[in-house]
Amino acid sequence: MHYRIDEQGRKRVTLIPGDGIGPEVTEAARRIIDAAGVRIAWEIREAGAEVFKKGLPTGVPPETIASIRETRVVLKGPLETPVGYGEKSANVTLRKLFETYANIRPVRELPGVQTPYSGRGIDLVVVRENVEDLYAGIEHMQTPGVAQCLKLMSKKGCERIVRAAFELARAEGCKSVHCATKANIMKLTEGLLKRTFEEVSKEYPDIQAHHIIVDNCAHQLVRNPQQFEVIVTSNMNGDILSDLTSGLIGGLGFAPGANLGDGIAIFEAVHGSAPKYAGKNVINPSAVILSATMMLRYIDEGEAANAIENALAYTLEQGIYTRDVRQEGSVSTTAFTDAIIANLGKLPSTWRARDRRPLRLTPLPPHRDYVRPASRRTIGADIFIESPASPEEIGTSLEHLVEGTPLRLKMVSNRGTMVYPSTGALTDCVDHWRCRFVLRDPSLSLNDEVLIDVLGRVGSKYRWMHVEKLEEIDGAPAFTKAQGED
Ligand code: NAP
Repeated sequence: MHYRIDEQGRKRVTLIPGDGIGPEVTEAARRIIDAAGVRIAWEIREAGAEVFKKGLPTGVPPETIASIRETRVVLKGPLETPVGYGEKSANVTLRKLFETYANIRPVRELPGVQTPYSGRGIDLVVVRENVEDLYAGIEHMQTPGVAQCLKLMSKKGCERIVRAAFELARAEGCKSVHCATKANIMKLTEGLLKRTFEEVSKEYPDIQAHHIIVDNCAHQLVRNPQQFEVIVTSNMNGDILSDLTSGLIGGLGFAPGANLGDGIAIFEAVHGSAPKYAGKNVINPSAVILSATMMLRYIDEGEAANAIENALAYTLEQGIYTRDVRQEGSVSTTAFTDAIIANLGKLPSTWRARDRRPLRLTPLPPHRDYVRPASRRTIGADIFIESPASPEEIGTSLEHLVEGTPLRLKMVSNRGTMVYPSTGALTDCVDHWRCRFVLRDPSLSLNDEVLIDVLGRVGSKYRWMHVEKLEEIDGAPAFTKAQGED
């Protein structure tokens, strides 16, 4: 069972009110669910700003973790994250601690919410990979002036998010899935998602599979959004695209979300804590209310979910709305919530909640080395160094330093562009260099003894901070070339 029931027959849900406008929006959702007659045992737990202030650097206390482990289902408000400094995001921590790898962010046109797209029937879902990619947040200052963020994407991570997208398409009766990537530039990371999508799509012949470059996807979403039903994409691309899609149907106030893992689910709006509106009783609770209806379907309360969605649409049809829809004639958060409660059981005239099959994710085999190649070989290494010298000076001195070893310097690049041997281009350089060494005899395999000797030689003159082995996997290079490298 992917949710738990207490001794009084109530379904258990951990409720995290969150920061900023979080307590107001989650309270609205809780009141509506209770009024709809769903019997839930709410376990109210903390996370976010207040927890950081108490000195807990993760922002997620052990009592919250224990509650989620027990209930398996969470309704949460947004959590504040310091921007550009300070502790890591408690949101991302929660998603990663419970491996909720699929972030499902649907948007659907609602009655009474006028947008430039009204009448087009926008109804689409962004399926965003939720735990890998740049949001793993593995960052280092490699020199005092050069920062690095590792973009890690796994075959397993790609496969399970792509499967989630196709399963969702089936559950919702969609005809197509688009996979949005930047595989034209990041051929190994984003390319892995594209290749996995193409492979997995063969198992879903009833659904059309289209790949689209993510920047064109953003463009197409603005020009012709109704062509999309399900868009599967990587973590950061999905974060950006889903804010865009929320803008198409009236803004973040109407955009719900679910973070799903194997047997665990965290439901929350796409929006953040909107601190300037905190405590003012003016914000739109619809996004969290719609997230709560996703939660109700997940815990087999589909009828109540439909009733709440219909009551929300009926309320909007009546011309009752919050100030994000239109300032003039708007009502408070609590008045809007009261109106939805009063409208439970009523049906809107132009819109209907849809019965949806609850999405169940397919667990993949648990072994960690998910991909087992037939052959692999190390053929060289990239050694990253710091130096204020010129490309010529660095290149010639490195060639000299590795004389007599099995490795030779192939090239030096600066932020991805080859600068030694010179291409004749005018690349502006910083003090961070990637020095590519390859075996003089390409039929051999590089061992650690040789690499450590070369590292010692390079280190006798330069500060090195990072090493990457160059591998050939199943006979193909498992690394990309620098811009300008042959
Ligand atoms: P935000 O909180 O989503 O707010 C951005 C803007 O969106 C608001 O100023 C407001 O626009 C509008 N908005 C958001 N929610 C609304 C609602 N319920 N009703 C009406 N309008 C709404 O984004 P942010 O200002 O970039 O981030 C603030 C904090 O939230 C940051 O600490 C960030 O890290 C955090 N955050 C948390 C989550 C999460 O917990 N899942 C997600 C995103 C951000 P107008 O100004 O035009 O009225």
